[in-house]
Amino acid sequence: MNVDAQISEYYDRLLKRNAGEPEFHQAVSEVLDSLKIVLEKDPHYADYSLVERLCEPERQLIFRVPWTDDKGEVNVNRGFRVQFNSALGPYKGGLRFHPSVNLGIIKFLGFEQIFKNSLTGLPIGGGKGGSDFDPKGRTDAEVMRFCQSFMTELHRHIGEYRDVPAGDIGVGGREIGYLFGQYRRLANQHESGVLTGKGLSWGGSLVRTEATGYGLVYLTEEMMNTHEESFDGAKVIVSGSGNVAIYAAEKAQQLGATVVAMSDSAGYISTPNGVDVELVKQIKEVGRGRISEYVDQAEGTYHEGGNIWEVKADVALPCATQNELNGDHAKQLAENGVRYVAEGANMPSTPEAVHYFQENGIHFAPGKAANAGGVATSALEMQQNATRDSWSFEYTDQRLHQIMSNIFKNVDRTAREYNREGDYVAGANIAGFKKVADAMLAQGVI
Ligand code: NDP
Repeated sequence: MNVDAQISEYYDRLLKRNAGEPEFHQAVSEVLDSLKIVLEKDPHYADYSLVERLCEPERQLIFRVPWTDDKGEVNVNRGFRVQFNSALGPYKGGLRFHPSVNLGIIKFLGFEQIFKNSLTGLPIGGGKGGSDFDPKGRTDAEVMRFCQSFMTELHRHIGEYRDVPAGDIGVGGREIGYLFGQYRRLANQHESGVLTGKGLSWGGSLVRTEATGYGLVYLTEEMMNTHEESFDGAKVIVSGSGNVAIYAAEKAQQLGATVVAMSDSAGYISTPNGVDVELVKQIKEVGRGRISEYVDQAEGTYHEGGNIWEVKADVALPCATQNELNGDHAKQLAENGVRYVAEGANMPSTPEAVHYFQENGIHFAPGKAANAGGVATSALEMQQNATRDSWSFEYTDQRLHQIMSNIFKNVDRTAREYNREGDYVAGANIAGFKKVADAMLAQGVI
């Protein structure tokens, strides 16, 4: 059977066995597509059902999370942890608290995480978890009780050498604090290496908060430099206004760009003269407010329910959530002059959008490579925990910068090696895959 037929047969089987999980299908389909050229060149990567094993999580946990709200009523949420692949190291990946969370979403994120973590060059496997709990509008006490209940089950499945969760949408410093507190109590030990994204005084790392956004900009700058361009003087759209978006905007402006728009799920602000990042931090991080509040305090226009991709710019950095940028948006961006798109979020561009970018000469960096700075710095936090050390901001930032630069070079080189120059999707998927695949082949059928 030729490679095309082999992959389609396998993909059809995966669809049947994982019905109702469209995001997982989308993530797998993109990777399998890139792998065709690898299997043609190196057929041994199909040995021992390697690809099938790679697409099947090592373990999937689903559990009940009961908790009591401030009115005394009992709420029941569902918790997930998908331990996808530990060939390169302990499972590593964030926890997402958002009402849209289901098994398919956690599986797509866990699957992507395998390749991303491999690309960082650090010894970490892939996993992801979360819950359909919505922290929005909940008091600190409610969030704490939810986190304690969630960790009461999760704690038996994680550990410094087993599985090391971190934050993601809806899980920031506050949630990691409550989760860590409950873990410490149940495990009866201060095992700082069990979670990353911790507070600085109890095992956290400098730069972890900034890492995903800064790393995204470092990698995008590398990509722009290969075309003799840079952020200096560029107009940039950053979707979202959470952790990734805020620090992407901050670093882009530090490098001389003007961030002309940011958003949340209700609408976007346009800021033609640049965004006041400190004010966004104040509104979102301190006040847990909405991006609409920005225009009450600074220059800008709020567009309720608006489409952020209609703003004119040179660079677009989608940093909110999956499938937020579709084929029509991609076309609109191109018509408005955007030449670079790099994904801060996981899979924010639909397959139609990615196809459009690639067919129309827009340089596109996929999330697996572009947003790997967060997990890379988490791995640096693990290194500091293991050696009971804490590094300076400058040193950690330098390490992050170096890692992002290496990722870009690796992805670029791999794309050329397979005659796909400039196709960073293929470059990231192939480079990420080969390292994990080699480890899996060496470790036998497990
Ligand atoms: P946050 O919770 O801090 O922020 C999420 C932002 O995205 C908010 O502005 C939120 O708006 C917006 N958003 C969320 N869901 C939707 C939706 N359905 N439609 C429109 N906007 C939405 O999350 P992060 O910044 O941590 O994560 C953002 C993305 O980056 C995710 O895809 C995540 O997986 C990815 N990522 C995060 C990493 C990290 O280190 N944090 C590492 C690598 C990737 P609102 O407040 O209105 O919901």
